[in-house]
Amino acid sequence: MTRGKTWLACVAAAVTTLLVAAPAHAQGYPTKPITLVVPFAAGGPTDVVARLLGGTMTRTLGQTVVVENRVGAGGTIAAASVARAAPDGYTFLIHHNGMGTAPSLYRKLSYNPLADFEYVTQVVDVPMTLVGRKDLPAKDFNELLAYLKANGTKVNLAHAGLGAVSHLCGMLFRQAVGTEMTTVPYQGTGPALNALLAGQVDLLCDQTTGTAPHIKAGTVKLYGVTTTSRLKLLPEAPTLAEQGLPGFQVVVWHGIYAPRGTPKEVVDRFGNAVRGALKDAAVLARLTELGAVVAADDKLTPTGLQTWLQQETQRYGPVIKAAGQFAD
Ligand code: ASP
Repeated sequence: MTRGKTWLACVAAAVTTLLVAAPAHAQGYPTKPITLVVPFAAGGPTDVVARLLGGTMTRTLGQTVVVENRVGAGGTIAAASVARAAPDGYTFLIHHNGMGTAPSLYRKLSYNPLADFEYVTQVVDVPMTLVGRKDLPAKDFNELLAYLKANGTKVNLAHAGLGAVSHLCGMLFRQAVGTEMTTVPYQGTGPALNALLAGQVDLLCDQTTGTAPHIKAGTVKLYGVTTTSRLKLLPEAPTLAEQGLPGFQVVVWHGIYAPRGTPKEVVDRFGNAVRGALKDAAVLARLTELGAVVAADDKLTPTGLQTWLQQETQRYGPVIKAAGQFAD
């Protein structure tokens, strides 16, 4: 090769590298499938929301939104992997309250939820329900209290790992009623609910997204909902608050995140696609059937998510630390 040709080859190689490494800009974006990482198992509430959005967003973005379940450690494995991913607009994370509780639960967290991400938008709020296996002898909340007192650690409570809302909800319930229980972790409440349906565990606190169809079909027992007022979806279902646990409230909120450094235009484009999907009539109808409520307009923005996450992190920090509930 002559000197001129070598130089040209070097320039060409450098340009190619630049093109490959260059962050995606809104114009022309996206040009390949986008990965939306879900921190819990397929079939669970977070996964259901992600797939519902992903289907519609695939049409509006013109590229497939691939939902990928990266499970483990209460959602922290998925969040850590997205924090480290290339900020090129092709990796996003959907996560819930766990983004705010992880810094207090995990003393050795490898990422900072408040610094290592671009904040895209909040998504939906979903209430939880405390449900039991169909043949659990306690037929209502009062009988459940008596059953818990009599059986203590023989009672199993399933959850999706330390940092999952099912764990938080279960722990808050256990604290509120003052009895012991044995906790059984799963990689998401999809498998946890299957274990409950199979009679392998006794209790589960899970989003209506997973439990509502089973409550309606009578394949699980409902002991209470975790909102301070009754739900439109399950008007007959008493709240835990009205049954003697005043103020008991756990609502699951969701946010979408991108690795820190993802270009703003790309964050906006992906965010617009999420907001568009949340207005889609079929998506809305399905969300309503599952008890999910689209977040208020002021939360459907990068600032809305970032501010909320800061508040949630501050809210749960002292509670978790005071309870000495560490995961590592
Ligand atoms: N509902 C789950 C939780 O407890 C996670 C899931 O499987 O979506 O955090």
